[in-house]
Order: sequence, then C-alpha cells, then structure tokens
Amino acid sequence: MEVFKGQNILSFVKELPNDEACKAYLAKIKWQDGFKCMKCDHTKGCEKAGYRYHCYGCNHVESATANTLFHKVKFGLQKAFCVVFEMSTSTKSVSSIQMGKRFDIRQGTAWYFMQKVRKSMKSSQKYPLTEIVHVDEFTVGGKEEGKQGRSYDSKKKKAVIAVELNVKHQIKRVYVKSIDDYSAKSLTPIFEEHISPSAKIVTDKWRGYAPLKKSYDIEQKLSNNGRNFKELHVVIMQLKSWLRAIPTHVSKWHVQSYFDEFCFRINRSQFKQSVFHKTIERMVIAKPVYHKDVKQRLSV
Ligand SMILES: [Zn+2]
Repeated sequence: MEVFKGQNILSFVKELPNDEACKAYLAKIKWQDGFKCMKCDHTKGCEKAGYRYHCYGCNHVESATANTLFHKVKFGLQKAFCVVFEMSTSTKSVSSIQMGKRFDIRQGTAWYFMQKVRKSMKSSQKYPLTEIVHVDEFTVGGKEEGKQGRSYDSKKKKAVIAVELNVKHQIKRVYVKSIDDYSAKSLTPIFEEHISPSAKIVTDKWRGYAPLKKSYDIEQKLSNNGRNFKELHVVIMQLKSWLRAIPTHVSKWHVQSYFDEFCFRINRSQFKQSVFHKTIERMVIAKPVYHKDVKQRLSV
C-alpha cells in the first residue's frame, strides 16, 4: 500500500476503504524502520495476523495502534482517519459538533479525538522563522469577537503572533502563542521557540520588545493603525474567523491547541500533497494522550 497523497476525498475512500486498510497503513508507518518492542525495547519479533507484532524478548504482542494517538479509538480507525483527513486538508475549521454529525460520532468523543489530532499539529520547534518576521499581540474572545453569542469565552485571551514574510512580502509561515500579559517575559518564549536570531524582525513601538533587542535584530516602528503590518493583520483576521467555529468555553490551554492547528494548516499549505500522511505519521510517533490529562487541562 502506498502513502496517501492529495486532498481528493474519493481517492481517500478508495485507498482506505475500511478499518483493516487503515490499520495496515498505521502498521506500515509504525514499523517502517523495523520492530522495537514498546515494553522492553527488544528488536526481534515476528508479525502476527491483524497487524500485530510478537516480541521475542518479553512475549508481548503489540498492536499497530498501541502507544500512538490512535490507541483505544472507540469509533473505528476508518472514521478516525476521516477526521484526520478533514482536519488536515480542508481550509475551513470544522467544529466537533459538525464532525460528530458527519461521521456519526458523539460530539464529546469527536472533540476528544480532535484534541489528539491537534496535539500532533503542535510545532516541533525545529524550523525557526528566518526571513522578515513581523510580530504583534492581539486578543481573541470577548463579546466583540462573536456575533449573537458566538464568542467562545466571556473573557478575552491574549496572544502574540509571528508572521514570516519573504522578500515579496508574501506570507510564508505563522506561529501564535497564548500569553498571560504583554510583558517582555511573556513575549520572550515565541522568540525563543520560533524565531531565529538571524531573522529581520519588525514590531510596533511596544516597550515589551525592547529587552529582546539584546538577542534579536528588532526594528520597532509605528503601527500606523496596522498599515505597517498589513499581512500580519490579514492573518489575525483569518485566525479570528477560524476561532468562531470553536466551542463556547475554551480554556487557555485549549486555545493554544487551536492556535497550533491554525498555524499547522497555514505552514503546511504549500505541502497539500503530503499533509494527511504527515499528520498520521506524527500521530503514530506521538505519545498517547489519556482522557484524564485532557480533562484536567479543562480547568486550567
Ligand atoms: Zn518486548
């Protein structure tokens, strides 16, 4: 079986027609570099029926989904693959309510699985922005964001955004981080995690950026009502419209996962051919998420 490429839903259903085919797809990714037992790290074993591996070291039989984000998916792998396909290839956000209806999954179950997909979309932080980078802060949520009660929280959440532009001022990549306030301390992590010290950075005149000039090449200029940061504000508008599809109450921790999903799609938009496969691959490599972890985060 080949790697699935592109965004064509008919080809997708044809190539991955049932749970069995999806399991085979996962097994191929999981053991592409050979078998390594998740219990004892032994590398000798044999394949068993049902895309499982029998470890000769400890006799453990490991399934293709064990230790991946597909572990214990209750509604079947094909539906899970469909959710990943929707989330990784469509340009509009889909709420867990819509996703639940589309694939006949309970809304809560769909939401929980979608959080796992979002986890895999989190940046690896391996490829910092290197060209022209515009940085600004903004808020999301609050009454003015939503129309007719569609805002997702009564309190505004603060965020900082970094947009990489090429010399023609076209948007290349974007990172967004949820922050507590606009202090230099809160603004520093997005620089450390996502911006190369060699990048040419432009911010507005906010004093919170001044201490960062020691480590980064930062030019501070007047925003001129956003006119000097046109591309950046286009992305913020897109992000705000994207967030309108998300649930009414979103904790600070969860809002970051929606930011990650948004950025993943923008940053992958030039790689539409491989985006589904890459997402599945990340979900296979990622550590499993347990219900209690996600639930605990709700109260944060
Ligand atoms: Zn073993």
